[in-house]
Amino acid sequence: MRNRFPLALAIAALIAVAVWLPVTAAPAGPRLVLLTIDGLSWTDVFRGADPQRAADRAFVEAPEAIRDFVAPSDRPRALMPFLHDVVARQGVLIGDRDHGSCAAVANDKWFSYPGYNEMLTGRPDPTIRSNNHGPNRNVTFLEWLNRRPEFRGSVEAVASWSVFRDILNAPRSGVAVNSGWDGGLDGDPATAQLQRTTPHLWPTARFDAFTQAHALRALRRDKPRVLFVAFNDTDDFAHEGHYDQVLMAAHRADGFVADLWRTLQADPAYAGKTTLIVTSDHGRGTEGREGWRNHGKPMFVGSDTVWIGAIGPGVRPAPRPAAGCATSSQIAATAITALGLDWRAFDPTAAEPLDILARR
Ligand SMILES: [Zn+2]
Repeated sequence: MRNRFPLALAIAALIAVAVWLPVTAAPAGPRLVLLTIDGLSWTDVFRGADPQRAADRAFVEAPEAIRDFVAPSDRPRALMPFLHDVVARQGVLIGDRDHGSCAAVANDKWFSYPGYNEMLTGRPDPTIRSNNHGPNRNVTFLEWLNRRPEFRGSVEAVASWSVFRDILNAPRSGVAVNSGWDGGLDGDPATAQLQRTTPHLWPTARFDAFTQAHALRALRRDKPRVLFVAFNDTDDFAHEGHYDQVLMAAHRADGFVADLWRTLQADPAYAGKTTLIVTSDHGRGTEGREGWRNHGKPMFVGSDTVWIGAIGPGVRPAPRPAAGCATSSQIAATAITALGLDWRAFDPTAAEPLDILARR
């Protein structure tokens, strides 16, 4: 004869599982992907390839490789189709100074560490004067999120530039950072192997193709609630004066963003509840024939300019440019608000969110 006790136990266990499941299943809340393309000029984004520079053999070794960016009448769309066809139409794309839209950094340095610190903490830190600043004293919004129970262990960063370990203060913040040539071991194994056996053109920055592969793997495997992806090729090729390579890198980056967005929309964990913010950390000099190669205050006038795109369920498509000039400082509060949290709890002195989010 069967004992009733195990049956009662089984029923109790089933009830326990039913109660326990919603707690441990993937969190249903809003998600965020923040994406950066280092030093990509607003002019390249909104005007497309510069025909004069593209015809200058001092800056272009392979004119045929960039013909498809220079020849079309709609050069912006030829270079960055996803930004213009999807982000600008379904969301917002701020910073087209030819049409009354404006975005700039608020810091007075106009290079990378101060720029990323500003966008990730919500304000400039005048004590950051070098990319070799070392571990960041400031708490980024990524670290703040990672300290909250509902985000703990679900905040990741994948970056081409190795300095992001410092900017995000990986040892203190607990944010999983996969960056630079050494940072691929915890990412996609096949990509990490390819990374080891590829020429290391820049000692502190791997090619963006590796970063993209690690980012896609992180989305598919870990499904973090917040992912930061930082591309770099555009800036290093510009410093080297290779405008053809800058254009190709910008076009590839646009394709990477498109791939990431398509991946998010195909995954129930992300579809319909993920905000994507895409931006740059600084602009490029505007003066003289060579100004575009560099950035930094005060030498390179105009390199405080940036552009900011956003798309997602809470982003209001904005047909007209906002008054005033948006700043990179506003990205932290915008990201936190898009996640349904109060940015003042992060830092009441941070810059306010961009006025692009639907009223809740
Ligand atoms: Zn640079």
